[in-house]
Amino acid sequence: MNIYGITFEELEKYFIEKNDKKFKATQVFDWVYRKRINNFDEMRNVSKDTINTMKEDFYFDKLEIIQRQEDVDVAKYLFKLKDGEKVEAVVMYHDYGTSICISTQVGCNMGCKFCESGRLKKVRNLETYEMVSQILMVEEDIEKRLSHIVLMGIGEPFDNYENVIKFIDIVNSDKGIAIGSRHITVSTCGIVPKIREFTNYDKQVNLAISLHAPNNEIRNSIMNINKAYPIEEIIKAIKDYIAKTNRRVTFEYIMLKGVNDSESCALELSKLLRGINCYVNLIPYNETSHIEYKKSSQDTIMKFYDILKKNNIGVTIRREFGSKVNAACGQLRSHYEEV
Ligand code: SF4
Repeated sequence: MNIYGITFEELEKYFIEKNDKKFKATQVFDWVYRKRINNFDEMRNVSKDTINTMKEDFYFDKLEIIQRQEDVDVAKYLFKLKDGEKVEAVVMYHDYGTSICISTQVGCNMGCKFCESGRLKKVRNLETYEMVSQILMVEEDIEKRLSHIVLMGIGEPFDNYENVIKFIDIVNSDKGIAIGSRHITVSTCGIVPKIREFTNYDKQVNLAISLHAPNNEIRNSIMNINKAYPIEEIIKAIKDYIAKTNRRVTFEYIMLKGVNDSESCALELSKLLRGINCYVNLIPYNETSHIEYKKSSQDTIMKFYDILKKNNIGVTIRREFGSKVNAACGQLRSHYEEV
């Protein structure tokens, strides 16, 4: 098993099953995630016997960075996986820290019409270690610690639920990479049964819903998932999530010219979200050469913003990152495949 794919609790269990001491898990995590060593022989305070046993069951292996594009406040990475598949991660530099948006699948089957990743169908889920490795490789490359993680790159995280939860356990563990749960955000296009499962997850991880429309008619036309889980079911699941966790939810809303950006859409959205502990993140669309959608004008976005504000809906406009570096999710990979 890849060493980057095991949680701290699983490693403790492993040592107990091997009739070894549970505290070895702390030592190993310390070497792997604090000291960032790359082979077992460097674990100087771990006994030879334990190292030999571990060598039989685990190996060290990370992803390969095959391309890196950079702009002032953003860097985009293309990784090659062992089977030759490719995924992306985007690093963004903010005044409050450095965030990374990682991929959770190779391609995506959700088929959102405006999305470059959806154009490249899902090939497979990422293993937990492949997600952890994106963090480690980037931290090594930028020579600093990441402060925030967003699961919003290629793939639908809740379509790879088990591996995603293990990934969060590893990066959040104070024995491991130790990124606070409030600094981790999972974004879903709205797979309702998984939202319900996530409601019972015991960590204070943030939840974001890619809503992108104020009604079923518009949402059906841009997001296939809405036919399986329409807006009213998502809103009900979100209300239950908030009742149980007391956490505020983010609704992502990509502004698509002439599709979902009218004043009546803003009013309808305000009505839909009234009384829900949430805020709306308006995202200027990142145009790609393959998809017919266009970004809304700055003026339209501001009008939309003002209407939500006037109706007491918390709202922000996402800063535009990376149009120079193919930063829309899936763009770097698809450009790479074409050249
Ligand atoms: S927006 Fe997200 S869920 Fe939709 S196709 Fe793209 S990667 Fe998949």
